[in-house]
Amino acid sequence: MEFRIKRYYGYVIASIISLSLPFITIGGNHIFLLSFDKKQLHLMGTAFDMQELYLMPFILMLLFIGIFAVTAIGGRAFCAWACPQTIFRVIYRDLIETKLLGLRKRISNKQREPDYSKKENILKRVVAILIWSVLALIASANLLWFFVPPEQFFDWMINNPMEHTITLGMLLGTAAFLIYDVVFLKEDFCVYVCPYSRVQSVLYDEDTLQAIYDPKQGGKIYDDNHEKIVFKKKDLAEDEDCVACQQCVTVCPTHIDIRKGTQLECINCLECVDACTKVQGKLGRETLIHWSSTSEIYRGNKTQLFRKKTYMYLAAIAAIFVMLVIMGGKKEYMLLNINRGTELYKIKDNNRVINNYSLLFQNTEPNKHTYKLEVVGEYAGKVDIKRFTSLTLSAGKKAKKVIRLSTSERLVDDATKDTPLTVMVKAYAIDEPERVVIYRKMIFFYPRSD
Ligand code: SF4
Ligand code: SF4
Repeated sequence: MEFRIKRYYGYVIASIISLSLPFITIGGNHIFLLSFDKKQLHLMGTAFDMQELYLMPFILMLLFIGIFAVTAIGGRAFCAWACPQTIFRVIYRDLIETKLLGLRKRISNKQREPDYSKKENILKRVVAILIWSVLALIASANLLWFFVPPEQFFDWMINNPMEHTITLGMLLGTAAFLIYDVVFLKEDFCVYVCPYSRVQSVLYDEDTLQAIYDPKQGGKIYDDNHEKIVFKKKDLAEDEDCVACQQCVTVCPTHIDIRKGTQLECINCLECVDACTKVQGKLGRETLIHWSSTSEIYRGNKTQLFRKKTYMYLAAIAAIFVMLVIMGGKKEYMLLNINRGTELYKIKDNNRVINNYSLLFQNTEPNKHTYKLEVVGEYAGKVDIKRFTSLTLSAGKKAKKVIRLSTSERLVDDATKDTPLTVMVKAYAIDEPERVVIYRKMIFFYPRSD
């Protein structure tokens, strides 16, 4: 099967995942959602509040190191097999312009632009842009669903779009950019705009898989200064197999000649490999362009997929993933911030010592909870919580409470200074005390004994 067809299967899978993921929820939370409106991050069905965004750096590290690892192993595999830019260009150029409207003659010739001196072709172009505009709007909405949950997005856009002008503007702005990008900017985006193409060369090594022309098998077409020296088959030796048909050049979406060697513009789509496989296959020979490494093609060594660099990337990814799981496991299902009052302490009748605190509770769950507080640990039964019995909060709500810690016991006997003690407090939801529970340390000042 041609690499091009395999890529199409990859695109279908990537599109299904991308379109369906925002609709999948676990226990009311999304697989991935970064909601600026709700100030929440949903990850694998768990909701994290903005105060808990310590997970975000781990996710970004996983993303970047993952892309570096994929590039070191498979070159710009992401570009050709999963990048939305490439998928959109294939949909527009190969499906809409070539297959549906016949504006372009063949998928195998991406160099030849349609003849717009013909009225019929102008009309076809307008139709192509209209079809793509609808798809661009869907793609734009799909992107927004990772920031605005689809149920809310449809409610806003259908019932009162003018009250949500930022979302509406993002939807239309992104769609407009996609139209400009796919119809007019084309692969220039990959070559000149995308920062990934700039960094890829530093990530490559001799074992990186990429599209490579074998000059030993096909003949040297360019000299060491990248000047073309062979234009016709007759300029090559008998045992050099390139027939100078240019099929590998005309099929290339980024308009390069891979026979020149590795180039920044190559997105690893492997369509040149398909083209040469066909040409040389008809002559009963093997392709001259391989999906291989420079080590294998130029030096005859076997490509080392698993090498020191690969292991280091895998180890880094595994370590970050473990940290992400550990940090995610420490998630708290409610928020409680504690601030001490300005006064150090008060002494009431019977030498009762009081410290004041301001507590900010937040219910970060999708359902209502009633919270309780109790002193645990060393000072349980010795220090009491006053002015707080329980607090009921609806989903997502916050409330402030001023409470007192009070004790009539002699906790410290020190005549020289006031002593700060650490009192452990447990806050929990009475309906789910095992899961929705957090512990906080409160500094309690006990006065000097005189
Ligand atoms: S040289 Fe062109 S056709 Fe070949 S893999 Fe690179 S981008 Fe694709
Ligand atoms: S497709 Fe193969 S035979 Fe034709 S020009 Fe390219 S490398 Fe040579």
